[in-house]
Amino acid sequence: MPLAYIGLGSNLQQPLQQIQQALNELAELPDTQLSGVSHFYRSRAIGPEQPDFINAAAQLNTELSPIVLLDELQKIEQAHQRKREMHWGPRTLDLDLLLYDQQQIDLPRLNVPHPLLTKRAFVLLPLLDLDKNLALPNGKKLQDYLAQCQDQKIERLTTETVSRTYP
Ligand code: AMP
Repeated sequence: MPLAYIGLGSNLQQPLQQIQQALNELAELPDTQLSGVSHFYRSRAIGPEQPDFINAAAQLNTELSPIVLLDELQKIEQAHQRKREMHWGPRTLDLDLLLYDQQQIDLPRLNVPHPLLTKRAFVLLPLLDLDKNLALPNGKKLQDYLAQCQDQKIERLTTETVSRTYP
């Protein structure tokens, strides 16, 4: 069964719950098993002044095609968005399809590997939790990109901080 990696990010006032709920929703996708969850990280937002992000990554075994999986991710994002719009304003849940097996996909609405994957510590560190030997379709190891991200502010949350309520 194909192996997909999903990046999760949230900077809502309760971003941990957003991420944990999103993980439960990923576990419930059709023809899909949630087969791994990374540590959680807190990262400084890039761009305009805003709260820190909580980031994580999930590993899925899925029969869904990349585009159908993207549709499902966007449905989950929109469901969180609706909740958020009532209370908090702009975007609170970001789900990215980071890797899908060793496929290279270049479609108008889907680029895999995700173009920012190699440039962001908040993507690389959780992915490497799931598999420290992960590599891109071109054979380059994710581990080798970390050195270029050392100026990025990021900390790993302890398990005491995060109660793991997802399956
Ligand atoms: P953003 O909300 O900034 O992550 O961007 C969402 C847009 O990126 C959507 O229009 C997607 O169609 C597009 N996109 C392209 N490649 C990917 C990917 N690998 N994962 C998620 N969204 C993607």
